[in-house]
Amino acid sequence: MRRTALAAVAAAAVRGSRSMASTAPRVTVLGGGVGGCAAAANLARTGAQVTLIEMGRGAGGRATTRGTREDPRIQVDHGAPYADMRTEAGKKATQELVAAGYAAEFQGPFGTLRADGAFEASEEAGVTWYRGHPSMSRWCEGLLQGTPSITKKFGSMIRRIEPVREDVTGAVLGWKLFDKEGQLVSDCDWLVVSGSGVAHPRWSQTFGGQAPLTEAAAVLGDARLDAALAAIGRITARPVQVAMMAFEGPAAEAWLRLPFAVAEVEGDPILAKIVVQKSDSGLVNVVAHSTEAFAVAAQDAFGSTSTAARVGGAAADASREQEVLGQLVTALNVCVARLLGPEVELSKPMFGPLLHRWGNAFPVGASLSAEESLAPASRLAFAGDYVGPRSGSIEGAMLSGADVAQRLMEHVASSASACSSCM
Ligand SMILES: Cc1cc2nc3c(=O)[nH]c(=O)nc-3n(C[C@H](O)[C@H](O)[C@H](O)COP(=O)(O)OP(=O)(O)OC[C@H]3O[C@@H](n4cnc5c(N)ncnc54)[C@H](O)[C@@H]3O)c2cc1C
Repeated sequence: MRRTALAAVAAAAVRGSRSMASTAPRVTVLGGGVGGCAAAANLARTGAQVTLIEMGRGAGGRATTRGTREDPRIQVDHGAPYADMRTEAGKKATQELVAAGYAAEFQGPFGTLRADGAFEASEEAGVTWYRGHPSMSRWCEGLLQGTPSITKKFGSMIRRIEPVREDVTGAVLGWKLFDKEGQLVSDCDWLVVSGSGVAHPRWSQTFGGQAPLTEAAAVLGDARLDAALAAIGRITARPVQVAMMAFEGPAAEAWLRLPFAVAEVEGDPILAKIVVQKSDSGLVNVVAHSTEAFAVAAQDAFGSTSTAARVGGAAADASREQEVLGQLVTALNVCVARLLGPEVELSKPMFGPLLHRWGNAFPVGASLSAEESLAPASRLAFAGDYVGPRSGSIEGAMLSGADVAQRLMEHVASSASACSSCM
């Protein structure tokens, strides 16, 4: 259905169920990563009144950029360093970001650092690589471009989710979302859950108690929602610890002598990937990504500046953080010295090194199918890199956000048609 027709019918559907000044469905998207931003933008463009809630300082999620107030030149992509697009739909959607200046094609060079220290360049057919331009946080900005009607609530972590139910039938009419202090953050007709943490058993390890959506769903008796939550619960997480830093002057030049921008590291127990990126400001950013085994062993260190510590109140241990950071940086320097020679001074960054733990860098296991992503009786939907094909990627998150927005609005529109034909 075309966007304008969809918007008109969807608005009529909500008119039937709610007498309010505005008739467009009020949809809250929980989570401002790529999946949430894609969903929010597509919903807004098809006529929904959208609120986007994100606990971080801005949109981005795992496709984000670390900056500092002290020095605006520092912009380090410490999550996903790039997006590899493997489908025509993903490439087409990304081309819109490229045309608007929010992303650019990325040529690498890519390769592998062998265990013997040799570097081997690599190419992969059928894949186009992109980066946010000039940094990854622009990806989500680009997705949200041209949708000023979206209400953005950043820096707000949702800790409780409550269904709004019809008195007699118990039918779900919408949702209310609350923060840590119990303050109402959003009140909506439909909820799109993008950050899966509120629906996953891992919530209790960090914050204690049951995950908010799991708790809310327990009283609804919606088999479809229960099935979706069970599927989400079976997805596990692959963690990554990253050490990020930025260099200037001769140290920066030394890093640029490496024959790669991105190298997978083979056979190292600590280091899995090295990303070297020259920024527009002339600084050279270096991010060392750990192996899964190292991240699991170091899961008690998550970086005192992480959102979990800052907004969620999770306790951070500074000395453990320094220990883990030291191990990652040493592994990085040993690896790189094999290529550049030991005399090169690599260890004095002008920013960092800083540690960041991505407890859920990549989902592992069968993702939620696109059909499972909508639970209409509960007025709830899921979007993100744990939904649909291409799990654990920016491409997957972006396409799932667009897909769920279309499914949701089509459902609202078809309910409206059914409602008008029964009058
Ligand atoms: C180190 C690393 C390397 C990666 N490399 C690549 C790569 O090379 N290529 C690639 O395609 N992908 C890569 N990825 C994966 C990619 O970043 C993700 O697949 C994608 O960004 C996921 O987007 P999302 O919107 O599904 O989830 P997220 O980005 O996780 O977004 C969910 C958002 O919800 C918010 N949120 C969660 N709970 C709450 C709450 N209770 N209240 C408020 N807000 C909440 C979170 O803060 C977060 O911003 C990498 C990821 C990491 C961490």
